[in-house]
Amino acid sequence: MNALEKFETDTLPTSAGDLAITFLGHGSLLLAFRGQTIYVDVFGKVADYSKLPKADIVFLTHEHSDHMDPDALASVRTGKTVLVYTEACARQAEGGIVMRNGDRKTVDGIPVEAVAAYNLIHMRENGQPFHTKGAGNGYILTFGDTRVYVAGDTENIPEMKALQDIAVAFLPMNLPYTMTPEMAAEAARAFKPKILYPYHFGKTDTQKLVEFLKDEKGIEVRIRKMM
Ligand code: ZN
Ligand code: ZN
Repeated sequence: MNALEKFETDTLPTSAGDLAITFLGHGSLLLAFRGQTIYVDVFGKVADYSKLPKADIVFLTHEHSDHMDPDALASVRTGKTVLVYTEACARQAEGGIVMRNGDRKTVDGIPVEAVAAYNLIHMRENGQPFHTKGAGNGYILTFGDTRVYVAGDTENIPEMKALQDIAVAFLPMNLPYTMTPEMAAEAARAFKPKILYPYHFGKTDTQKLVEFLKDEKGIEVRIRKMM
């Protein structure tokens, strides 16, 4: 059996061909576009990456082990794989391209923007945010005319609300580390993605997000197995 068959995949048309998005689970996605295999975050608890296709590119949002799992990364990385990640990720795996919040680059033909990802409200008991400003990235990946935003671990920060022309957005709702459904809905109302996938949502009730956005006719909320 094809190892991908046990996961859901959505295929979206773009001006440069189809983009297939496979929902591996938690914060991990597998994208296939024009023969390229692209991962965003890797986490061995959701999939056996040794059975999945080798990576042309891996984007890592931050170094937390549920996003940058060293064994899962080793399973898909080859000598030719391009790694795009943060400074903290680079301390754990050499040879990648570090992007900082606000950086833009074209990676293997794909325009990429790194977007800030951090907490404003949700803090650890010691008062430190779960995710510190500047440490993590969200990524906007452009496929033909289609801009796909994968937010990483973040709240509804001003940088997110200012985004424009996002066709597909992945927003996290894993609590207490990221957003409540209210926060995700507020962000979506601000930047109006055409398709919104809540992801990395743990036990958070995705139906609340659907309910909050039911009058937003321009936003299609799609629920996939991304807990
Ligand atoms: Zn995290
Ligand atoms: Zn996380």
